Amino acid sequence: MKTDLLYEGKAKLVYQVRDKTGHLVLDYKNDATAFNGGKKEVFTGKGRLNNEISAYIFNVLNEQGIQTHFVEKLSETEQLVHQTEIIPLEVVVRNVAAGSITRRLDIKADTPFNPPLIELFYKDDDLGDPLINDEHALFLSDINKSELQEIKTKALEINQQLTRIFKAVNLQLVDFKLEFGRLASGCIVLSDEISPDTCRLWDITTHENLDKDVFRQGTGDLLEVYQKLLSRLEARS
Ligand code: UDP
Repeated sequence: MKTDLLYEGKAKLVYQVRDKTGHLVLDYKNDATAFNGGKKEVFTGKGRLNNEISAYIFNVLNEQGIQTHFVEKLSETEQLVHQTEIIPLEVVVRNVAAGSITRRLDIKADTPFNPPLIELFYKDDDLGDPLINDEHALFLSDINKSELQEIKTKALEINQQLTRIFKAVNLQLVDFKLEFGRLASGCIVLSDEISPDTCRLWDITTHENLDKDVFRQGTGDLLEVYQKLLSRLEARS
C-alpha cells in the first residue's frame, strides 16, 4: 500500500500511499529521543506500542466528534491518516506543573492549573522549539487569528476528552503536546500522535510515571511502562 518515503521524523516514517490520494501511512519507529535529540536509544517494540496507544486514543476522539487526521490502524506499527499540511506549532496543554514550565517560571512541580494553561512552541528543531506568543504564531504560520482561537478551543476540548479517557484507567493527565494540520479542504484537524511520548501521565494512586519521563530521567523501563499503559487502555475497551 505504501510507496515513497516522504519524510522521516524522530518517531515516525511518513509514506505516500498508492491509489489513495490525500492519504499517508505513518510507520512508528522504535527510537526514543529526548532533550531535542540529545538522548537517543532504540527500544524494540516501542513503535508497536505507540501505534496501538495513539490509534486507541484517536479512535475515541473520532467517535466523540473531534476531527482528526486518523483513519485506521493498518498493521502493528502503521496507521492510515488523511494528508495534512502540518502547522508548525506545538500546542502544549498543562493541567499540573511539570517539566519545562517548572524551570522556566520557577513554578513548584505538582501545582495544579485551573483553568488549564495553553502554551505555544515554534516547531523548529534547529531553534530548539522555542516558546512563542500568539503574535509570533500568526507571523510564523499561515493560520489567521480566528484559526488560532479555533486551535486553542479544540486543544481544551481534547484536554477534557483525554482527561476522561486516562482517568478511567486511574491516570492523571498532567500535560501533553498536540499538533494540528490543514486538510486539502482548508479544514484544520488534530494530527500527529497522542502517546506516552507526548503526554505526561501519573498513576493517581502511586504517582508512578507512565510516560517518556522514565526515559528522560532514567527512572524506569520504557517498554514496561508503555505496555502497562496499553494494557490498561485495552482492558477498558
Ligand atoms: N512534548 C512533546 N514534544 C516536545 C516537547 C514536549 O511531546 O517536543 C510534550 C511532553 O511530553 C510533555 C508536554 O509536551 O507531555 C510538555 O513538555 P515540556 O514543555 O514540559 O517539556 P520537557 O519537560 O519535555 O522539556
